[in-house]
Amino acid sequence: MSAMVRLEGVVRRYGEVRAVGGLDLEVGRGEILALLGPSGCGKTTTLRLIAGFEPPDEGRIEVAGRPVAAPGTFVPPERRRVGMVFQDYALFPHLTVRQNVAYGLGRDGKREARLAGVLRLTRLEGLEDRMPHELSGGQQQRVALARALAPEPAVVLLDEPFSNLDATLRAEVRGEMRRILDAAGTTAVFVTHDQEEALSLADRVAVMFGGKVAQTAAPEELYERPADRRVAKFVGEANLLPATARGGRASCALGEVPLRGEASGEVELMLRPEQLSVEPSPAGRAVVLEREFYGHDQLVRLRLPGGEGLEARLPGSRRLKPGERVLVRVLSPAVAFPPPAH
Ligand code: ATP
Repeated sequence: MSAMVRLEGVVRRYGEVRAVGGLDLEVGRGEILALLGPSGCGKTTTLRLIAGFEPPDEGRIEVAGRPVAAPGTFVPPERRRVGMVFQDYALFPHLTVRQNVAYGLGRDGKREARLAGVLRLTRLEGLEDRMPHELSGGQQQRVALARALAPEPAVVLLDEPFSNLDATLRAEVRGEMRRILDAAGTTAVFVTHDQEEALSLADRVAVMFGGKVAQTAAPEELYERPADRRVAKFVGEANLLPATARGGRASCALGEVPLRGEASGEVELMLRPEQLSVEPSPAGRAVVLEREFYGHDQLVRLRLPGGEGLEARLPGSRRLKPGERVLVRVLSPAVAFPPPAH
């Protein structure tokens, strides 16, 4: 993989706060990478460091194979070949769509062709003479994206690109954004705290906590094989159960469970709610506490005899009543983590 963006040991401090604390990251050519993490974990700071809006205190940043920030080197944002889409889009309110998109283009012979190409790509044809306030939220976002893509940057950076759109528009705009980025062949890094957004849009997701990357992986890998319990709980819902492992199996409150890989001794098992099947049975040792019905499926909260709570995701058609006894079966291998430190 030839990296279009590379960060090595990057540190950024604000007084006492290490907003970014020794970050390593690589983004491949044409890849869409999500930076995912809770509020304050350093996502935006990381994006701003790549863009060049601030310098790192330590470490090295490369864009398209060229050092842009390293000891003794600092390339300013406008010379980094980086496009930026801001959370609030930051369109120029007094310029038309065409003028906004053309803003970063040189006055050479290719200007008109490039402008027409990027307006077509982002489906803004016909809206060229509108002012930003005459556009919907989704259209404004496409203008911001078109403006960032127009100068053919090596990488586009997007800060919480969907946070200003209402929930119904989001899924639609997400698909559109993916289509545009794929068609442009651009490398992109976007910041989000929404796991669904990260999993559905990115080729790879870097999960951040406390200024560091905890795991970088493809969405399926991240969901099925989270590196630790923090990642497991942040990316999706996770049941965690104490267990004793031996080889490829472990014994826990649900009985003998197969493992992904091998482990031995005290472990903590992670099972996603959809890895469990639940059957009403008077002989069942688990009890239904409550259910959240979503139509296509439901989340059922259970209690095991030892008091452990468990969540199972089941088809919406299954009727289960609070207080009912159920048998819980594990449908696929569990992930084993080291036991939590006490
Ligand atoms: P959010 O999702 O809430 O935007 P984030 O993951 O993007 O969060 P950052 O904005 O990168 O997090 O902030 C990381 C840490 O650095 C936080 O503790 C924040 O308060 C601190 N921080 C960020 N910018 C500054 C600044 N200019 N001055 C002082 N502290 C800052």
